[in-house]
Amino acid sequence: MQRVYNFSAGPAMLPEEVLQQAREEMLNWHDVGMSVMEMSHRGKDFIGIAQQAEADLRELLIIPENYNVLFLQGGASSQFAMMPMNLLRGKSAADYICTGFWSKKAFVEAKKFCQPNLIVSTENSGFTTIPEAVNLKFNSDTAAFVHYTHNETIEGVEFSYIPNTGAVPLVADMSSTLLSRPIDVNRYGLIYAGAQKNIGPAGLVVVIVRKDLVGQAITNTPTMFDYKFHVDHYSMYNTPPTYSWYLAGLVFQWLKRNGGLTAMAEINQRKAQALYAAIDNSGFYKNPVAHNCRSWMNIPFTLPDVALEATFLSQAKQLGLVTLQGHKSVGGMRASLYNAMPEAGVQTLIEFMIEFQRKYG
Ligand code: PMP
Repeated sequence: MQRVYNFSAGPAMLPEEVLQQAREEMLNWHDVGMSVMEMSHRGKDFIGIAQQAEADLRELLIIPENYNVLFLQGGASSQFAMMPMNLLRGKSAADYICTGFWSKKAFVEAKKFCQPNLIVSTENSGFTTIPEAVNLKFNSDTAAFVHYTHNETIEGVEFSYIPNTGAVPLVADMSSTLLSRPIDVNRYGLIYAGAQKNIGPAGLVVVIVRKDLVGQAITNTPTMFDYKFHVDHYSMYNTPPTYSWYLAGLVFQWLKRNGGLTAMAEINQRKAQALYAAIDNSGFYKNPVAHNCRSWMNIPFTLPDVALEATFLSQAKQLGLVTLQGHKSVGGMRASLYNAMPEAGVQTLIEFMIEFQRKYG
């Protein structure tokens, strides 16, 4: 069977080596006579898998000791609520930066718990820009935290810098950024990321939270929404998503074998630059995002005529280039180039785009 190049924004491609290892270990993990899916999360085998995954993630991201790492359920969307429930710490306001679909969702959800200040929104630009650092004016006295989305998966914009919020904890949705490059965890109060891009299967969400921010959830916070319970129980307060956690662990080991996040950053940048150059030099395809804030991970582009889109997608599919349709809110095409997308996949896409233009341009 031929595997395709899947340009989905998530669930996205996983490294083939990881899938093969999972297949080999599926029926009988390390001679215990069962699959990881069938193991008790309280048993020493699964606890070993879980601890190794956390240790590897800590090593990859150089996560300092004063941060907790949590493997939770509910996807990144659960964090839109969990974050204000836990981080308001007696305050009634938080600052939100809106640069696209996902940061706007986080902002709207926060209204259930506090008065979120929309300190800047780039909606007028159609979410094709990122505010300049000098234009970010935080409510340093009243905001419990500042939230932003480092990479907007749908619009394909990303921050090229980390906002400087001074003493106010910075919270980042890193769903489509985490593990694609090194990041300075010390700059953040909390980072969360849905797994289905660079980490592993959907459903799992990784949360990295500074220890001093845990333990002050608002009254009546459900147990499952209180970081403290998850910290105290090593993310095993209830039955965790064991198989997703195990697969994430295999991905972390794959990253370590392949040069870690510095190597990923180089490859990811190369892949993105190649595709942006192909778009910009074509005079046919267009990417609407300002050059200084173009995402390395999610690259939307349009064709000169929407009537060509169906043909583009069906011909791409014949070459094994799939899930290239853009999100319905922006239309056009989108190629997501997470860690597991090989450079050969991007090259094949570029060659197809050139050939398509030659026929229809
Ligand atoms: N934030 C970002 C940046 C995303 O890309 C996504 C999903 N594509 C989400 C949040 C929501 O994630 P989930 O579906 O895991 O809740």
